[in-house]
Formats: sequence, structure tokens, C-alpha cells
Amino acid sequence: MDAKKIEATRRRLSSEYENLIKSINRNRLTAEQIKLENTEDECDLATISRFRLIEYHLHESDFQRLRFIQEAMKALDRGQYGDCVRCGNDINEKRLMAVPWATLCILCQEETEKDRNSSDLVTAGPEEEMDL
Ligand SMILES: [Zn+2]
Repeated sequence: MDAKKIEATRRRLSSEYENLIKSINRNRLTAEQIKLENTEDECDLATISRFRLIEYHLHESDFQRLRFIQEAMKALDRGQYGDCVRCGNDINEKRLMAVPWATLCILCQEETEKDRNSSDLVTAGPEEEMDL
């Protein structure tokens, strides 16, 4: 990858990073509001737990992407951007255009998703709290 492309990717990643931080903060505020509005209404516990679930999933995917972006920026610094962290092959350039924070090639991505889905069922639950 040439210097121009690296610079463009770095800019894209850091603006993506900032957007994500903003969206996490916005989601937090919305979630707080939902909680405030709903705690008075004791009959509507189902609504509260549904919102908690949405909030959890929002955060989960945001935080995950935040981590990927950080990893991709580190890889850029090391000059290893575009290499799959699992098998070492080049990540398809089209994939990087669509998902600039991709750290896995498409094959490894599919593999880890399979692994994650099966372990998620056991370990993850909406009761877990996450902090920045
Ligand atoms: Zn791979």
C-alpha cells in the first residue's frame, strides 16, 4: 500500500472512530432518558427490559467496532495494515474499502463468527454492564 493510500485510510479510520464515540455517547444519553422516563411506571417492566436489551446490543456492536478501528490504526502504524491477523494473507482491497477496520480476511471472519455465535449463547447476557 502506498503512502497516499495509508494516509487516506488513517483519516477515514480516525473520523470513523470519532463518529463512533459520538454515537456511543448519544446512545448512552438516550438510554438514560428511557430509563428515567420508565422507572416511574412500574407496570411497564417489559418495556424497560426490552430497551435494556436494545441498549446492550447497540453498545456491544459499537464497542466491538471501536476495538477493530483501534486495531486497524495500530496495524497501519506497524505497516501491517491489510494483512489478516489470523492467517496472514492479504485482505481483499474491496473488503477494506467497505470495511476499513477489517483485521481479518473474509474466510477467517466467517470462521470466527461461527465460533463467536456458539460461545455467545453461553457467556453473554443482557445483564452485563459495560463501561467505556
Ligand atoms: Zn485470514
